Amino acid sequence: MGLLEDAVITAKGAVDFAGKKTGEIVELSRLKISAAEIEGKIKNLYESLGRSVYNAAKSETDATTLVKEKTTQIDTLLVDLSAVQDKIGELREEKKCASCGTANPQDANYCKKCGTQL
Ligand SMILES: [Zn+2]
Repeated sequence: MGLLEDAVITAKGAVDFAGKKTGEIVELSRLKISAAEIEGKIKNLYESLGRSVYNAAKSETDATTLVKEKTTQIDTLLVDLSAVQDKIGELREEKKCASCGTANPQDANYCKKCGTQL
């Protein structure tokens, strides 16, 4: 194989690699934004939950239904958030601890949170 063919193949490989990397970075940014949005919604729901309980106590009314509704909404969002965080971990090729579920760097031998061997 001639020098020119080698150069063309090497350049093509570099483009493919760069293209994949850029795609991953875009996807990672998108996931991080998504996670931040879900976290914002959860924060607002916690605040709203607190205000509902406060208002109910003030007006001596029953807030049970409202509290249950908001709790369910928060639980749903927490599941969504966990799924997004799992995807972020997969993209970063993190190792998930089998014992506590913490995401660890790819080259880690032990969990940074609980010390379990990975
Ligand atoms: Zn762990």
